[in-house]
Amino acid sequence: MSISLIAREIKESATLLINEKAAILRAKGEPVIHLGGGEPKSKAPISAILAANAVVNSGEVRYTPADGIPELKQAIIRYTEDFYKIKVAPENVIASSGAKQALMVALMAILNPQEEVIFPAPYWVSYTEMTKMLGGIPVPVAAEDGSFYPRIEDIERYITSYTRAIIINSPNNPTGAVYSREFIRDIVELTQKRGIYLIMDDIYHRLVFDGKEWVNVFDYAQELTENTKIIVINGVSKAYAMTGFRIGWAVANRKLIEVMRILQGHQTSGPSVVMQKAAVGALNGPQSQIDSLRVTLQNNRNILMERLAAFNGVRAAKPDGAFYAFVDFSYYEKDSRKLANFLLDKVRVATVPGVDFGMEGYLRISTCGAVKDITEGIERIKWALDPDSPNELYIGLRKLVRDWL
Ligand code: PMP
Ligand code: GLU
Repeated sequence: MSISLIAREIKESATLLINEKAAILRAKGEPVIHLGGGEPKSKAPISAILAANAVVNSGEVRYTPADGIPELKQAIIRYTEDFYKIKVAPENVIASSGAKQALMVALMAILNPQEEVIFPAPYWVSYTEMTKMLGGIPVPVAAEDGSFYPRIEDIERYITSYTRAIIINSPNNPTGAVYSREFIRDIVELTQKRGIYLIMDDIYHRLVFDGKEWVNVFDYAQELTENTKIIVINGVSKAYAMTGFRIGWAVANRKLIEVMRILQGHQTSGPSVVMQKAAVGALNGPQSQIDSLRVTLQNNRNILMERLAAFNGVRAAKPDGAFYAFVDFSYYEKDSRKLANFLLDKVRVATVPGVDFGMEGYLRISTCGAVKDITEGIERIKWALDPDSPNELYIGLRKLVRDWL
């Protein structure tokens, strides 16, 4: 087939793939437990649904400015002023079709072919592929001490004259790690000193547990000026359970946002007006839903940790936020794709292979489902991997009953 050299190098998104695989099996009536997906199961806020309905019902569903409607920009400005404590103008904001597009357009605006983008490993699956799609070189950096908390020295060592940007994602997908105040301070200082862009992917910042502190990057950069090389990425997907609405945004210096607006204008002409209105509804509506999501996710995390602690052979660091745990299964199998396929085939539990996040031997387990999904999912994995598991008879019996029914 005649396809471009770049397209040949791009891997399918492992996180989206697992969602599709699980959905296909479920549609066939298979009793799949989905511990793969990265989306909350709660409903979108009613304020978002009403706002979207109102536009559709009006029948006036039209193009908008490529960088978003003024109302949405105002809502994003308020959000940014609340959480980042900086003054923001509409010219500092662009709304996109998901945080994913905001990130892609930001990279497109700053990256030249052959330039490098650094990010801590393990990392979200799309950072490598987005960088490669632009002809750039992804540079994942694992913490020297084997933890999920990068140190500034680890990162500094990888900076070259080709380094264009560093992406920081805290709380992190796939580890749930929330980076320390010192780290954020040092990364701001380092990027400023070296003239590198700092992209903060803060999509999970409202989902932090145990009262742990999420650090605002602007605590160390004061204000957003023409020379500020910080790009903040955010969106409604995670905290507002609005993954399918596809609204995210970037906040950055005016010149950069202007370039992003031009680029985005040629891609999508801007996000759908229906979804932009929905995002305005969510951002301006009641916010208590986020607190209850956080409490649910923290509880799910606790249950997952409990279950994993009783599972000999696996090692799991406790996530500080987001809705994932990155669990070391290498005692059983080092090839994480093989292991994830085995678990899906044998016990119908969907997880995402660690190798897609840049670390072999691990599986990403999502805590977005119900408590029952987590407990039964781990029980099934245990049974599949551990021949001495006392649960074998129980699961075997249950399968017999299911087959019989
Ligand atoms: N960044 C990270 C770390 C993510 O996990 C996701 C998940 N989709 C995104 C960005 C993109 O989010 P969105 O749904 O807004 O495109
Ligand atoms: N970010 C989520 C995940 O990692 C959703 C899928 C995606 O966009 O990658 O599972």
